[in-house]
Amino acid sequence: MILVLFGAPGVGKGTQAAILAEKLGIAHLSTGDAFRAAIKNQTSVGLLAKEYVDSGKLVPDDVVARIVEEAMGGEQFAAGCILDGFPRTRAQADALDGLLTAKGLTISHVVNLDVDDDTIIARLLQRGRADDQEEIIRNRLGVYNAETAPLLEYYSEKGLLTSVNGVGEVDEVTQRVLTALA
Ligand code: AMP
Repeated sequence: MILVLFGAPGVGKGTQAAILAEKLGIAHLSTGDAFRAAIKNQTSVGLLAKEYVDSGKLVPDDVVARIVEEAMGGEQFAAGCILDGFPRTRAQADALDGLLTAKGLTISHVVNLDVDDDTIIARLLQRGRADDQEEIIRNRLGVYNAETAPLLEYYSEKGLLTSVNGVGEVDEVTQRVLTALA
């Protein structure tokens, strides 16, 4: 199964992806985690990504492609995976289709976690990651609305999209996602 967990920053994609990966026995790829690890380890991708991640802008698509190709080449991805925070642009969605087609795979589901902006901002301020300051959060939400949200229509037209209410207890939301996959 290839599951794309979709939604604005702070809707709980990372939390839900980790739980679902465990329950479903498939890999979890968070491009945000991959970039943070690359930045920490000062790899070539990390050096390229740092200024974008720090300011809440999107890392350029070619750099994203490098990290995704590397991760999805790993053996643990053979059984499927949950994609968390990727794709975020139409070019990334096309790149993903290309990568999957080459492996004889297709996206099984795109699940959009729906959370209102006030709840998102409150959650992110509470999380307190380096890029969770109010101004950077507003940047990230703006980037999401301009560049990433249009993918909802793209996946909806393909008949792959289900929206799930992302407000509530963590296990309630997990159950809603599992129901959407059934
Ligand atoms: P996240 O952990 O998903 O909130 O991502 C944190 C930051 O990593 C984002 O604000 C971007 O700078 C960068 N990032 C993560 N995934 C992507 C992606 N698919 N495309 C571009 N930038 C990304």
